[in-house]
Amino acid sequence: MTVRVATLGFPRIGGRRELKKALESFWAGNSSEAELLQTSASLRKENWTRQKEQGADIIPSNDFSLYDHVLDTSALVGAVPEIYGHKGGKVDLTTYFAIARGRQVAGGEVAEGHANCSCHHHEATDVPAAEMTKWFDTNYHYLVPEFKEGQSFSLSSTKIIDEYKEAKALGIETRPVLLGPVSFLLLGKAHGKAFNKLDLLPGLLAVYTEVLRELRQAGAEWVQIDEPTLVLDLDDAARKAFAFAYQGLTSAVPDIKLLLTTYFGGLGDNLDTALSLPVHGLHVDLVRAPQQLEEVVAKARPDLLLSLGVIDGRNIWKADLSKILKHIAPIAAKRDIIVAPSCSLLHTPIDLERETQLDAEIKNWLAFAVQKIAELATIAKALNEGHESVKAVLEASDAAAESRRTSTRIHNQDVKKRAAQKDAKLTQRQSAFPVRQKAQEEALKLPLFPTTTIGSFPQTKEVRQARARHAKKELSTQDYVAFLQKETESAIKWQEEVGLDVLVHGEFERNDMVQYFGEKLSGFVFTKHAWVQSYGSRYVRPPIIFGDVSRPAAMTLDWWQYAQSCSQKPVKGMLTGPVTILNWSFVRDDQPRSETCRQIAFAIRDEVQDLEKAGCPVIQIDEAALREGLPLRRKDWQHYLDWAVESFRVTASGVQDKTQIHTHMCYSEFNDIIQAIADMDADVISIETARSKMELLEAFTDHKYPAEIGPGVYDIHSPRVPSVEEMVELLRAAEKKVPRRQLWVNPDCGLKTRNWKEVRPAIANMVKAAEILRG
Ligand code: GLN
Ligand code: ZN
Repeated sequence: MTVRVATLGFPRIGGRRELKKALESFWAGNSSEAELLQTSASLRKENWTRQKEQGADIIPSNDFSLYDHVLDTSALVGAVPEIYGHKGGKVDLTTYFAIARGRQVAGGEVAEGHANCSCHHHEATDVPAAEMTKWFDTNYHYLVPEFKEGQSFSLSSTKIIDEYKEAKALGIETRPVLLGPVSFLLLGKAHGKAFNKLDLLPGLLAVYTEVLRELRQAGAEWVQIDEPTLVLDLDDAARKAFAFAYQGLTSAVPDIKLLLTTYFGGLGDNLDTALSLPVHGLHVDLVRAPQQLEEVVAKARPDLLLSLGVIDGRNIWKADLSKILKHIAPIAAKRDIIVAPSCSLLHTPIDLERETQLDAEIKNWLAFAVQKIAELATIAKALNEGHESVKAVLEASDAAAESRRTSTRIHNQDVKKRAAQKDAKLTQRQSAFPVRQKAQEEALKLPLFPTTTIGSFPQTKEVRQARARHAKKELSTQDYVAFLQKETESAIKWQEEVGLDVLVHGEFERNDMVQYFGEKLSGFVFTKHAWVQSYGSRYVRPPIIFGDVSRPAAMTLDWWQYAQSCSQKPVKGMLTGPVTILNWSFVRDDQPRSETCRQIAFAIRDEVQDLEKAGCPVIQIDEAALREGLPLRRKDWQHYLDWAVESFRVTASGVQDKTQIHTHMCYSEFNDIIQAIADMDADVISIETARSKMELLEAFTDHKYPAEIGPGVYDIHSPRVPSVEEMVELLRAAEKKVPRRQLWVNPDCGLKTRNWKEVRPAIANMVKAAEILRG
C-alpha cells in the first residue's frame, strides 16, 4: 500500500511579504496591473517548487489569491452584488478590489477595517466594501458572498483553469482547490428579502459543472473540493443539499475525481452524510478530531481514498512523528492513504529558518509551513520504506518532543500550582454588584451618564515613528519615555478640558494590545518574520505561548501612575484580558487552552491588584476576542464559556468593592451568550452599538444584564464626526432599554486608528450629548 504526501493550500503572502508590497504599491498607483500579476506568478512558482522540494507529492493550485479565496469563488461564479456595477462577463481586477476594499474616494483613504479588532467594518466611501467576517474559528477573514433571491450564476473567471495550466507549463501537476458549492452558499448571506440560500444550488451547480469540465479538459485528474461546513452543526436541509450537490456534480462530470475536504473539526453527526457522497476521496482533520479516524475507516467505502490530516495546520509546533505513525500505521497497512496537514497551511507562517534570532531551544520545538511538509514526507517515507529509512529524523523528532515535555523553560511548578488552586474566593468579588455599585458611587462620585473612552488615542505618525526609532536604538529609552509622557500628559489635559469623567492614559506606549503584554510576560516568544494573513494585505505576527505564563514585574503600573499624577479625575487602568491574549496567540498544544488561559489570568490578576494598591479606582480588562473563541459546535460552547468566564473572574476578583472593574468587547452579538457575559460579573461593560442604532442592545434589556453598560455611541470605524443630536438620539434609544442609572457614554472601541482631527470634535460632541441626557 502506498502513502503519498499532499498539501491543501500554502501561504500566499510570500516569505518576504512580497504580495503585500505588490498589492499596496498597486493600490497606491505606484505600479501596474502587469507588475502585480508578475509578482503573483513568481510567488506561485516559488510555492509550488518549494512544496515539491520538501517532498509533497500532491500540490494544490488555485490556493493562491490576490485577496481572498472566498471572493475568488464569488468572482468565479459571477456572484457580484449590484452596487459594484458588474455587467456580467469576466470580473476584472477593478471590480474585484472594489468588492474587497470599497472604491477609493478621490485623494482619500481607502476603505478598510483594521487588524486586531474583531469587528472589521469598513470606512464609509462612495461604494463600500463587502462585509468581511472570520473564516470559521481562525483569524483569517473572508469576504462574505451576497446572494439575492432568484440569483443566477455564470462562469466569470478563468483563474482556476489558468493557474492549473500555469503550473503544468512549469512541469508541475497540481490538484486544483475549489471551495465547494454548499459551503459557498452557507457562508454567504441573503441580501434583501429573506429566502433559503440553498434554493440557489441548482444554478450554482451548473457553473461548478462547467468549471470541473474545463479542468478535466486541461488535464486535471483530481480536484480538491473544500466543504469545511461539514464540521459544523447542520440541519437536514443542508445535509440533503450535500447529497444533491455531489450526486449532481459526479453524474455531470464523471471522469474527474473529487477529494471532499473537511477541516477545523470532526465530522461528528455529519459523518454519514460525508461518507454517502459519491466522491473519490475524503480528507479528515485528525488534529482537531483524532478520535474520528476509527469510525471513518470502519464506515468508508473500501475504494474511497482517505486523506488524513495529521499535521497541525493551525499551529506552529513540531509534530510528534512517532505518535502519528503509531496512530495511522494500521490503516496504511490496509489501504492507500494520503497524509496531509489538517487544513490549508494558510494559517501558519512560512519558514522557520528565517527566524535566525529565535532562542535555539525554543526553535527546536517549532515547525512552520515548509517544515510541516518535510514532516509529512518523513511520515510517508517511514510508512512506505520502514522506520529505519528515516531513523535519524525520527530520533530527532522524539528528542524534540521529549525536550518539550521536560524543559524547565516551559514548566514552572509554582505557576502550575497556583493555577491549580480551586479556592472559590479566587473567582468571587467581596460583595454582590448592588453593594459594589454603592461603594463605587461613593468613591467615584460620577454624574449620571458618565463619559469615558475605551483606552487608546490616535497612534499618530509621530508615535509610531518614535516607537520604531526606539526599537532601532536611534532613540534612547530615556528620550522615548519622555516623549510618551508628553503625549500622555497632553492627552490627559485635553480629556480634562473636553470634560470627560473617567480618563485614560491613551496607550501610546503599546504597539498592540496583546503583544504589549506578551512581551512583558514570561512564557511568550516573538518572531521576526512569522506573518500570517489576517485579511487582504493585512498580516499579523501572533505571539507564541510556549511555556507556563508568569509576570516577572508590573506591566502597566508606571504609565497609569504617570497619567494619574497629571489629573485629579479618575484615570482608568487598562489591561488586556486572558481570553483575548490566548485567542490572539499561537497557543501551547501540550495542555488544554483552559489551563494556559488560567495561568494568564493569574498574571493579569496580579497587575489588577498592583494597580489597586497604587490607588487606581477604575480598571478595565478588555476581552475583545472572547466571542470569537467560541467553538464551532454548539455542544462545546458551554465548556468554553465556563472556563473563559472563570479566567476573567480570576483576574477581576481580587479587588475591593469600591474598585470598579470594566470590561470591553468590540462587537455586539451577545444574544446567545448573555448569561456568560453577565457571569463575568464586571461592574461596567462597554460594547459596540453605534452602527446598529442600539438594536443590538436588545440582549441586555429586561434585566438580562445586571450591571452598568456603555453602549458605543461613536462609530470609530468611520472618519465621520457624529453630531450631538445623533448621539443624543442613540442614548435616548438606549434609555428605553436599560435603566438610565446603569448607562455610560463612550465610543464603540479604542481610537488608535483615528486621527485627532476627528477625535477631538467627536468626543466633544459625545460629552455634550451626555450633558443633554442628564437634563
Ligand atoms: N483598550 C483597547 C483600545 O482602546 C481596546 C481595543 C479593542 O477592543 N480592540 O485600543
Ligand atoms: Zn474594541
